[in-house]
Formats: sequence, C-alpha cells, structure tokens
Amino acid sequence: MEKWPIGVFTSIDAGLGVKLEVAHELGVPTIQLHAPAKATRTPENAEAFLRRLDELGIALTAVFGGFEGESYADIPTVAKTVGLVPPETRGERTIEMKEIADFAKMLQCDVVALHLGFVPHDRSEPLYQEVVEVTRELCGHCRGNGQRLHLETGQETADALLQFLEDVGEDNLFINFDPANMILYGTGDPIEALKKVGRYVRSVHCKDGKWAERPGEEWGVEVPLGEGDVGIETYLRTLLEIGYDGPLTIEREIPQEPERQKAEIGHAVRLLTELKQKLGVA
Ligand code: MG
Repeated sequence: MEKWPIGVFTSIDAGLGVKLEVAHELGVPTIQLHAPAKATRTPENAEAFLRRLDELGIALTAVFGGFEGESYADIPTVAKTVGLVPPETRGERTIEMKEIADFAKMLQCDVVALHLGFVPHDRSEPLYQEVVEVTRELCGHCRGNGQRLHLETGQETADALLQFLEDVGEDNLFINFDPANMILYGTGDPIEALKKVGRYVRSVHCKDGKWAERPGEEWGVEVPLGEGDVGIETYLRTLLEIGYDGPLTIEREIPQEPERQKAEIGHAVRLLTELKQKLGVA
C-alpha cells in the first residue's frame, strides 16, 4: 500500500461514520468501519461487505467497537458510560468486543480498535488493575485472531496512556491517535502527545477541534479539518518524524447533517492531498 493512503471513518448501521458509498464518491482508497449492530454481524453480511469493498477497490484498515448505552453528552457521562471501564457493563461488553473482533476477522481485518473509556489516573485503585486485566484478556483474544488492538486516544494524557500500555504489557496493543480528542477532552497538546506515544501509533484519525474555555471540565468543539487548534500541517510533519506510514483516516462526527458531513470530508480529502504533496509524500 502507498504511504499515508487517505481514509474515512464509516458506519453501516451503528456509529457516527459516513456510508461506504460516500467513501467511494469521494475517491477514498481506505476506510475504518464502526462495527455494525449485533444482529447484522453475520458471516453472510461480512461476505457481502467484503465483495462490495472489492468492487469499489476500497481497503478496510480497522474495525472499531462501540456499545449500546455509551453517551458522549459531556465528560462526566463519558466516564460513566463509555468503553470497558464501567464495571456494571464490563462483562457483557468484553464478550461483545470479542464478537466484534471475530466479525473483523471475517472481514479479513487485522486491526480492532475501541475507546477503552476513562482509565483511572490512580494506579493503586483496584479499578485500574481491573482495566489492565480486561485489556490483556482482549489482547489475548485478538492475538488468537492474528489481530492487533488499537486504543483510541483522548481520555488520557500521553504520560498516563504510556504508563497504561506498559502496565498491560501486551505486544499486540497499540494506539489509534486522534489529535482532536486531546483538545476536546483537554488532555494535553496533541503534537507533544504524538511525539511521546509515537512508537505505539499504528493508526490515526484526522480530526480537528478547538479548546474549551475550561479544558477537561467541558467539551471543546469539533470543527472541520484545518479550522481547529490541531495544526494539521504540523500534525502531518510530526507523523513523518515518528515514521508513521499508515492510513490518514478522516473522522467528522456530524451524522445528523449528512450533506455537510460529506462536503467537509471532501474538503478534508483535498487538504490532506495538498499537504501530502507539500511534504513530498505523494
Ligand atoms: Mg477518533
């Protein structure tokens, strides 16, 4: 595969991505896929989707897990509802995440990713160790499928994330780096963070955002690529520096406005294409 193929985050019947057809219309060669709902994760559907990808000449680079009951309404709600951290739902979600990994295998995809949730900052808390354990369990399952597990960034500072990866200590555990999330959650400068965690970065989101007035207490605002505080050219230069050569997957989470979503992703494709040329990658 070429270096830095452009990608887009897509959905079938769950998640905030665009439809596969939009990726095709925009001429994007790769996608990440939000795992479809449980009822649609069948071998028949996997086969049909693979055929469709093949017809369109699009490569699937990662399958993202997500769960019912997750809410990104505000930062405290994320802590309570997202990922494998909340104890009440952890058991059933771990089973579902393994099923999602198995579905990704049917799609011949060797990368599974997720928002783990807010990992506690205090390593001596029992909850921290529980999250370490469940992550190991999931890594083991993915390894059995010949897959890597990528953790979406944002909820943790770069230092906390590094510590967590080291505490888990699994060789198929990596990072899906999302620079905008660092800003939206107020967890640190994304460029500095990228330099720190660079050796673990195996997939990335191209998403932009603006800092909140009170970072970490309230949300920043997601904005079209190039209009926020990430600094997309600096972001790409830093990806070059850390030796990243995987896909550049555009994520724009406004599914309630599909026309605007498509137009803005189209703009993002052009911006990334120009910057790749400028940096001598294309
Ligand atoms: Mg993201």
